[in-house]
Formats: sequence, structure tokens, C-alpha cells
Amino acid sequence: MSDLSIDKERFRERFETFNEIGATDAGGVNRPSLSAENKRARDQLVEWFRDADLDVRIDKMGNIFGRREGRDPTADTVLFGSHIDSQYNGGRYDGVVGVLGALEVIEAFNDVDYRTDRPLEIVAWSNEEGVRFQPDMLGSGVYTGVFDLEYAYNREDKDGNRFGEELDRIGYKGDHPCEPGELHCYFEVHVEQGPFLEQAGLPIGVVEGVFGFSWLNVTFEGQANHAGPTPMNMRQDAFVATGAVTSAVREITATEGTDLVGTVGSVDVWPNAINVIPERVEFTLDFRSYDNAVVEAAVDRIRNEIQWAADREGLEYDIEEIMRVDADPFDETCIETVARAADDAGYEYTRLVSGAGHDANYLNTITPTSMIFVPSVDGVSHRESEYTEWEDVVAGTEVLRRAVVDRAAIE
Ligand SMILES: [Zn+2]
Repeated sequence: MSDLSIDKERFRERFETFNEIGATDAGGVNRPSLSAENKRARDQLVEWFRDADLDVRIDKMGNIFGRREGRDPTADTVLFGSHIDSQYNGGRYDGVVGVLGALEVIEAFNDVDYRTDRPLEIVAWSNEEGVRFQPDMLGSGVYTGVFDLEYAYNREDKDGNRFGEELDRIGYKGDHPCEPGELHCYFEVHVEQGPFLEQAGLPIGVVEGVFGFSWLNVTFEGQANHAGPTPMNMRQDAFVATGAVTSAVREITATEGTDLVGTVGSVDVWPNAINVIPERVEFTLDFRSYDNAVVEAAVDRIRNEIQWAADREGLEYDIEEIMRVDADPFDETCIETVARAADDAGYEYTRLVSGAGHDANYLNTITPTSMIFVPSVDGVSHRESEYTEWEDVVAGTEVLRRAVVDRAAIE
């Protein structure tokens, strides 16, 4: 077999060119879903897919596929990719590494006319980030049957623009049904967005699965009163109870399982004035772990803390669990494929679990799936300063290339 290695200079040039679209002064990109910049990025990608002799297909959700036939046209397809929408003023690597890396794998095969047994498809999923239209991972969600198309089309941004109409407006409401063909497996390269690989000094993370989580909405209802004349023993302060619960989150995460993380991320206070005792607070809780029992235990404990805090302060309270998702282990065979690919390429790696959700989660519900992580410098993501060493991007893509060669062969 000829040398199938990727061309890291070509890849880098493409990466830089792509990230000129929607580039921000602070070194990030601003290409939120279905924006003008997102359209330009899509146009560029489609052009490159065509240049690479891929058969381009846009589905009804605006997911962009590029297909390359294999020797056996009836065989199941090996699918790999990621997303190209960004956060508002987000980073250059999140998603882009996985999509342009997939394209570079195709280019490397084209360089030497290498033909796989199975057909290959690369993909850029629509609306992964979920910043303009919620929920996130909408394109892969419809593709895998988690959401129906009408639900997706009716998602609105904060100005009342609907996803379906915006998709049409930018010219990416495709004709092809948003549903999977016969898939053999799915791979995705992504930046880690956390600190573990960098701390371990390793270029590759073999992703075993993704954390499960619970999201809670909590409300405390007390009594507003003047902050001056009201004695401390006559207060029913909704924010004092919120502070106690926030501290309890730290206590629970320190004692309930090594990988448990917990966050109070959104807080609304009424009346939110300097001289009025807070009458009402609504806040969110987010607990995540790879162990479903740990999430369960954390939720039980925080329910008690909320009740105690309300009792101490004389408040009414309400707890609503708005989302509970179990931990999602990836396919053992695909995990092994990625580990073997890293070994063969001579890269050191560790197995790890993702704290963040990815399109790969939804793909994992319909086909064997795994992911490849590359280090995020300082664990930073969803910010303009997001950075990954180019050698690490190359390493992750080379592992993807080997995993694809492996799984696209028919024994
Ligand atoms: Zn991403």
C-alpha cells in the first residue's frame, strides 16, 4: 500500500483559509448557526468537497455530506465528521478540526488513488452548538430520529426567526431526507475542551463515552422587604438559601464520586435591587458523572439541601428536573479501533470520558461510534482564545485516517 499519510501543510493552509470566514479581532470566529458567516463557511466547504470529487448531498436539516464510493457499492458506509457552526465569538478548533480533518483524510486517499472497500461519507452537522437555536445537536438529532423535522424547523432564535425559514433563506434546506442510510460506524475527532490531555502530556484521547447528567430548575420564594429597617431574624431571604445550596454543590462534588461535577450556572433574582431583600430566586443546577448512580445520589442530596435551606429561611420552594440523560458508553469495538490506530501511528494516548455532549452521542444510538480527542491548551473552549497545537490536530487526524482505513476494509 502506498503512503496514505495526511498532508499536514495542506491541511493547515485549508484550516487557516476556512477560519478567515467570520474571523474576530481577538483570534476567534463568529459563525453561529445559519448566520451569513455560517453560510459562507458552508459554501466554502461544499466547494472543497466537490474539488475532492465527493458526491455532495444536503439534507432537509442542512447537514452537508460528501460521499466517496468504495469498491463494494452495496456495503455499509463509514461516516465521520463534526460541525462547523460556532459559538458567538467562539474558537477556531471546536468542530472545525473534525470536519476539515475528515476532508484531509479523503484528500490523502485521493493523493494515491486509494480506494476503500466500503463507501465513505464525511459530514458537517447543522446547529451543533445550540447557541442561536436550542437545543444543541439539532442536525444529528433529527438524522438519528431523536427529534422530528417539524420540531426542528420551528425552533426560534431570540428574535423569533425560525430554524426552517433561516435554513431556507441561506439556501441550505436540501432535498434529501434527513435520515441515515446503511451505516457501518461513525468516528469524530474533536478538541477535548478540558484540561486532562494537556496535563497528562498526551496528544490523543480515546473517548470511551460521555457523562450522564441531570438538570434542575429550583425556585425559592420568600418575602421582599426593606433592607434597612428589617431585623436579621425577621427575614425570609431567597438568595441566602440559594447561597447555601451553591456551597452544598461544592460539598457534594467533593464527597460523592471522583468524576462528579456540579454547577449553578443561571440565577435570576427578584426584585434584584440594592436595598430590597430578595423575595424570589430561580436558579439552575447541572450535575454530571459517568456513573449514573453518582448523579442520582447528587440529586438526592441536593434535594435535601434545598429543603433544609428553605426551612431555615422560612421559604417556599420548588424543584423541577428538566432533563436527565444517562451516561453514554461508546461502542467497544470502535474504541478498540481508535486505540489500535493510535498505537500503530506511534502516539501515546489515554482513554477518557467526555464531560460535554457531541453529535457522536446521537450517532451512537444508531451505529457503532467512538471519538478521538486532541488536547485543548489550558482546557479552554467556547472562547476566542481556544487553541490546540497543530501537531496535535495532525495526530488526531492521522488516528482518524487509520481508524477509517481499518473499519472500511471488508475482511
Ligand atoms: Zn463542538
